[in-house]
Amino acid sequence: MAQLKSVILFIFYGMKKIQMVDLVSQYENIKPSIDAAMHEVVTKAQFINGPEVQAFQRELEEYLQVKHVIPCANGTDALQMAMMGLGLKPGDEVITPSFTYIATTEVIALLGLIPVFVEVDPSTFCIDPAAIESAITPKTKAIVPVHLYGQAANMEAIMALAEKHGLKVIEDNAQAIGCDYHFSSGKIQKTGTIGHIGCTSFFPSKNLGCFGDGGAMMTNDDDLAQTLRRIANHGQSKRYYHDEVGCNSRLDSLQAAVLRVKLRQLDRYIESRQNLANAYDEAFGGLHGVNIPARAAYSNHVFHQYTLQVPPQSRDALHAFLEEKEIPSMIYYPVPAHRQQMFTSFNLGSLNLPVTDFLTQRVISLPMHTEMQPDQLAYICSTVQSFF
Ligand SMILES: *Cc1c(COP(=O)(O)O)cnc(C)c1O
Repeated sequence: MAQLKSVILFIFYGMKKIQMVDLVSQYENIKPSIDAAMHEVVTKAQFINGPEVQAFQRELEEYLQVKHVIPCANGTDALQMAMMGLGLKPGDEVITPSFTYIATTEVIALLGLIPVFVEVDPSTFCIDPAAIESAITPKTKAIVPVHLYGQAANMEAIMALAEKHGLKVIEDNAQAIGCDYHFSSGKIQKTGTIGHIGCTSFFPSKNLGCFGDGGAMMTNDDDLAQTLRRIANHGQSKRYYHDEVGCNSRLDSLQAAVLRVKLRQLDRYIESRQNLANAYDEAFGGLHGVNIPARAAYSNHVFHQYTLQVPPQSRDALHAFLEEKEIPSMIYYPVPAHRQQMFTSFNLGSLNLPVTDFLTQRVISLPMHTEMQPDQLAYICSTVQSFF
């Protein structure tokens, strides 16, 4: 039935099937360079720690204007190793938003640390600095802001709090690589390079995605960089000499080769996401009861997701209506971290995060990628408009 509908859509509109993320079309548009880069790795068979990994690391350092990039196996590992590298110990409290992807908060618990969940700003979806301040206790050691959907958290306020209370800041930059943070001084800095450590993911659907798993940590601190490199490599300082318990977390050479090609496209990709977001804004800005994504004064937006807020009573109906019309949409995220069963042992039952709960009932993300065709965009816009 669904297949028949796509055929009909194609006949009437000549339109390619709409996807949340169209990685196939993206690949087709850069196929010769990707294929050549992968072929080079395969013919040299330097699959682990090959020259591509070092080259990618240098190129990402240059792009982000950060002293050290430490590639690793995925974004979740990056977050875990960042917490290990900062010497966080069981029982230490880590302040983080509940309105995020689970990976941010899971690694806190995995290391025996205590996740302290706080509210986000209802317009930017990112951690609320005032909520951080009221959650600080003598046991607090770190803050993990998440640049959710591709827009920065209020880093200037967060860094000021961290300095005042002697806390470490780990930026979860998995959704915001390439995002520019604007300080009140006028200085502009890439997200992920502002806190003590930044973490990112190269999961295929992320804004800079590879063809499998990948991730990286970023820091401007030389000693910390050395520690993180050691932790990512079995705590090894010299071959077969292991100073501390670490992990095996590597970015492989094939992924690095793909990422080198895609990094050269990243700014163009960001621009096409922003153009799509602007077109969506124009189409949905006037709809009654619908909030288009707010733009923070201190950040640009790289639109990992384009997320509307709609009235709670119509959110699921909109999702079903779009599905019926062959337009995918997603709820990021239907259950906030503090309500996940995995955290039952932290006795969070009495934790009240009304903004977070409110957002989980209102958000809906629309297709957002770099290869959206004008006919697809027009169809999405008119279909959403026809629902309201
Ligand atoms: C994707 C993501 C991660 C985890 O990255 P993986 O590479 O999948 O481990 C962490 N935090 C956020 C906010 C993410 O979106």
